[in-house]
Amino acid sequence: MERSIAVCQVFPTDSEIIVEDFREVRLREFYIDHPEVIRVAKNALAEGRVLLTTTPRCSLVLATTASELCVREALLRPILHGSFHSRSSGDLMAAIIVTERNERLTRALLPIFARHTGIDLRTFNRSGSATPLGKEMSEIQTIRNTILHQGHSATYEEADKAIKIADCLLDDIFQRVIEKIGLHLHDDTVCGGRECLLGGE
Ligand SMILES: [Zn+2]
Repeated sequence: MERSIAVCQVFPTDSEIIVEDFREVRLREFYIDHPEVIRVAKNALAEGRVLLTTTPRCSLVLATTASELCVREALLRPILHGSFHSRSSGDLMAAIIVTERNERLTRALLPIFARHTGIDLRTFNRSGSATPLGKEMSEIQTIRNTILHQGHSATYEEADKAIKIADCLLDDIFQRVIEKIGLHLHDDTVCGGRECLLGGE
């Protein structure tokens, strides 16, 4: 608990320290260096999908895990790497956000993510939903917590919604971010090869 407080003191809520030094080239480097960054989240989602009809609450837990992994590891962590002079500083902050699950820092990063990707998770609506994706994710996390900590069950509809949220993050939003910085995907692997774009794939 003390460590989380210390982190918040280092990075004020406006996060201007992080914003000032953002470099898109470092964002690209992160994805080139970690081409399989979305793989773990994809695997969790695939298993969650298999369990949808038999055990919806297990399905919901895995789908929510997939969404969280995507946001932290494949979207916000790269943004942190794009925000520091040195890789070690970016690594440090990424470790903090991933291991501490510091929600305040996560929230502080969302405007930075929006500024550099054009996608604001606080206002973005997935197809077929009138509720912003960030709010939907928060609601499904609440259900997940009641499953894990109080043994509650989940309906098919709730699990199906968790899968649709994860689908939107892992496929639609992740792909948009990758393409915005001039990269592309081969299945789930990030590629920066220009020859592919010229038809030499
Ligand atoms: Zn390629």
